[in-house]
Amino acid sequence: MIITLKDNVNPAELASLKERLINEGFQLVPAQGTHYSIIGIIGDTASLDKRQIESLDIVEKVSRIQEPFKKANRKFHPDDTIVDVGGVKIGGGHFAIMAGPCSVETPEQVLATARAVKEAGATILRGGAFKPRTSPYSFQGMGPSGLELLLLAKKETGLPIVSEVMDPSQLQYFDEVDMLQIGARNMQNFTLLKEVGKLKKPVLLKRGLCATYEEWLMAAEYIMSEGNEQIVLCERGIRTFETKTRNTLDVTAIPMIHELSHLPIIMDPSHAAGMSRMVRPLSLASTGGGADGLMIEVHNDPAKALCDGPQALRPDQFAALTKDVFALRQIVENGLA
Ligand code: PEP
Ligand code: MN
Repeated sequence: MIITLKDNVNPAELASLKERLINEGFQLVPAQGTHYSIIGIIGDTASLDKRQIESLDIVEKVSRIQEPFKKANRKFHPDDTIVDVGGVKIGGGHFAIMAGPCSVETPEQVLATARAVKEAGATILRGGAFKPRTSPYSFQGMGPSGLELLLLAKKETGLPIVSEVMDPSQLQYFDEVDMLQIGARNMQNFTLLKEVGKLKKPVLLKRGLCATYEEWLMAAEYIMSEGNEQIVLCERGIRTFETKTRNTLDVTAIPMIHELSHLPIIMDPSHAAGMSRMVRPLSLASTGGGADGLMIEVHNDPAKALCDGPQALRPDQFAALTKDVFALRQIVENGLA
């Protein structure tokens, strides 16, 4: 971290800032330039509040040299993290497709969809039992009994399951759920992040609607700082000025997250565009762009879905898509030449 000082600083205030930093264990490297004097701070500056130092009268600006995320940072952990979800690996060359309905509705719906997505090559079953809906009057999910239905489908198909937890009080129902999903709206629910950080269960951390890469990785850092390093990041579309689509899928996130972090990143084309006809091109773009997997909403009867029907694929559309995704994945793995 580098502190740039203002001209003609008050010597007593400068001495007090230096003393404070030295007492906190930092090594200081002052340098005098023609126009500015600066102080380089050496040490783990993650705990320093940049804005607090910047608010001092003697300080012109404070610049961070290193990113504030440490455990999620590729610089300190060069090898790809491989996350294991009930025996299914994601990251480090392992590609996984999570698929299933937006929300769990009936035994027939979950079982029919689960059988179909497995047949088409999905390796993890998704389904929401606790639903974060924009309107309090919309279907809020089945709650714990929805998780029971997912477990039934897991038993029959052998597919591990991923489901969203919205609040720490719901964690008691997730013992047999293989992966915990933190939804976009909860990406900065720090209490929830810390609680799932204490568990030994993989976490699917969705990107917040307006979150920067750094905010997203700092959310992962919250989970990792409590001891849980099994995290898969999921880009699900961000809010932009565009109104034709529900959100805008940020494909740039794939190479950028791979550069910044060792954590795997999967893409959710369903929530990105909000339209079933966009799922195929966005899935192919994501696969071609090097994503570690996909999360796709599939419903056995989308027209009757209680949640997100317009973006759900029918099983036959999903099967046609996975065939092409796997073919494209082969090319990504082997190279074009
Ligand atoms: C979901 O996966 O069903 C969901 C609600 O996703 P998001 O948090 O990305 O909106
Ligand atoms: Mn949904």
